Amino acid sequence: MNSNFLQTPIEYLKGVGPNRADLLKKELGIFTFQDLLNLFPNRYLDRTKYYKISELQKTNAEVQIKGKIIHLKTVEQKRGKRLVATFTDETGKMELVWFRGIKWIRANLKINEPYVIFGRVNWFQNIFSMPHPEMELLKEHEKSLRSAMQPVYPSTEKLSSSGITNKVINNLMQQLFLDTKSSFAETLSNEVLNELKLLPKNKALFNIHFPENNELLAKAQYRLKFEELFYIQLQLIRKNLIHKSKIKGYTFPNVGDYFNEFFKSYLPFDLTAAQKRVIKEIRADLGSKAQMNRLLQGDVGSGKTVVAFMSMLIALDNGFQACLMAPTEILSVQHYNGLLKWCNQLNISIFLLTGSTNTSKRREIHENLENGFLQLLIGTHALLEDKVKFKNLGLAIIDEQHRFGVAQRSKLWHKNVSPPHILVMTATPIPRTLAMSVYGDLDISIIDELPPGRKDIKTVHRFDANRLKVFRFLKDEISKGRQVYIVYPLIQESEALDYKDLMDGYESIVREFPMPDYQVSIVHGKMKPADKDFEMNRFVKGETQIMVATTVIEVGVNVPNASVMVIESAERFGLSQLHQLRGRVGRGAEQSYCILMTSHKLTHDARTRLETMVKTNDGFEIAETDLKLRGPGDIMGTQQSGVLNLRIADIVKDSEILKIARSYAKQTLTSDPSLSHPANAVVKSTYAELVKYRNIWNYIS
Ligand code: ADP
Ligand code: MG
Repeated sequence: MNSNFLQTPIEYLKGVGPNRADLLKKELGIFTFQDLLNLFPNRYLDRTKYYKISELQKTNAEVQIKGKIIHLKTVEQKRGKRLVATFTDETGKMELVWFRGIKWIRANLKINEPYVIFGRVNWFQNIFSMPHPEMELLKEHEKSLRSAMQPVYPSTEKLSSSGITNKVINNLMQQLFLDTKSSFAETLSNEVLNELKLLPKNKALFNIHFPENNELLAKAQYRLKFEELFYIQLQLIRKNLIHKSKIKGYTFPNVGDYFNEFFKSYLPFDLTAAQKRVIKEIRADLGSKAQMNRLLQGDVGSGKTVVAFMSMLIALDNGFQACLMAPTEILSVQHYNGLLKWCNQLNISIFLLTGSTNTSKRREIHENLENGFLQLLIGTHALLEDKVKFKNLGLAIIDEQHRFGVAQRSKLWHKNVSPPHILVMTATPIPRTLAMSVYGDLDISIIDELPPGRKDIKTVHRFDANRLKVFRFLKDEISKGRQVYIVYPLIQESEALDYKDLMDGYESIVREFPMPDYQVSIVHGKMKPADKDFEMNRFVKGETQIMVATTVIEVGVNVPNASVMVIESAERFGLSQLHQLRGRVGRGAEQSYCILMTSHKLTHDARTRLETMVKTNDGFEIAETDLKLRGPGDIMGTQQSGVLNLRIADIVKDSEILKIARSYAKQTLTSDPSLSHPANAVVKSTYAELVKYRNIWNYIS
């Protein structure tokens, strides 16, 4: 059937008309024949079996029965009437009951004609009864395309109350298949169909709506899911390729003295296999002609900093400057101090620029940036100020990306005539499947391995009633010279209450851990930045043993001596937040602990979150669980959730199909970027059509 026909407005389908068309448009977004064809069932009812009335059980199950109506009566009751039919087969009697639409139903029911009925059975007043059965004359049933696996379509309250029942949709679908003679253009190339042994489009569409059997249904679902994911990936990858061909980047052909000398003489440990792989990926990007736009994901402590440093050395080796931007002052100071030693060894000029850099230092930095003496600049968003002008910025690295937005990323771009290469680093693992579908414009590298010898953080869940025991444990750890974080939730809507909890908690801790034996710091969002930094620094220097805080410490501070993280009201935190918080400990040589405190009242999801934390330290596993609990929209924020309005595939459950679809899309575009090979003609025209009718854009924000 040619595709123009499928663009016919839905009101022209026999059985639709203007009123139904309005409802279909409003409630299900069905405007054309094509839209109806792409309305895929949510589930299927197994109607392979016919029950005898004598076999019925009091299980309230859905069953299908063949039989006849032998008697009809209307019964008056307190609230309105009900219509009761006596229904029999050769084994017994039961009742069919209607409470609504009685007049119309009564007029249309045929006495003594064989019917097939379907519905849920109740045991009521000593007889089995089926309220509002779905029913069809046996002779119609045998003729119909409808099969033993009966599709259940998405519906709304409004649709079913306006008489557009599942059966009506089913009939419309049948009409559509009659009008089109069940013939639909193929949308995947022969090559893919053969290699993956996919059902042809015709057969897949037929079986998704009228499954011939379970096996064909499964194949139809696979084929249509694959197709959906394939075209989304094709779109994303294409966007990425266009970006690369349009935006020329600096080419850094040389891996030179800085990089080699560092690697040979100063690198204090062996790189993990994952670090090596990622450095290789970055090197390949920097050596190509296109601008790099790469996301580096790696769990807390996986060693992203050294990867960042070695990437910056490549820029320096090619005569360019590089910068590293972190979201807080403390973090950028930590980066600066960490890299200073290596820079001194290599004779590299490195500067730190933050909000608190004084005017004369600032002037010096601006000057050295512009004359090119300065090679590495570390800092906060102060780097984004207009006054900060580089001579030749070749690589910009952003740490902890979730604190910066896309807007900031693009601001860095304009620091130069040509945009610098960009590497964004994040410790918040985004499940691979989701990253694949959302970050079309970024390439992704993953460090999925921790440096050797890292001890897992022991995580336990304790109820508030055991607080005294927990305090005793903290005292033991402090007496061994360790430091402790105690974190309280701070959630916008209940801010006042949360502050009260925090302050009450702080007071009880000061009472339990009195001076002069103990020193307790407190940090929260209402403090002035300078006070916050002052308190943080006392803790960093080891002058205080306990840090009471709200989640402001979530972002990457490094206090290797802190070995215990207590999280209060842990049931109120999301999984990724819990994982981030836990990542603040376990940075030194000592065994570290995370204690999740909660009340006894826990929802099912909260319990799952806590169990997940106790069970695993693996950020990716945690991210996958988080995705299952919250759904993709919540994780990425509403802005991107449009990406995930899939018709048939499920980004979580179908991640295997997604991987295959992605690799085929990549393969197709790499070997034939403009889709001009005859073998890809089908893909090209399908893609063009998806774009034309904007079907695909629904997915992509
Ligand atoms: P993150 O990925 O959280 O930014 P860092 O880069 O801060 O992690 O690294 C955490 C710690 O692990 C640092 O002390 C770093 O020196 C150390 N480290 C990084 N890579 C390795 C490695 N391959 N072997 C041993 N230690 C490493
Ligand atoms: Mg880091």
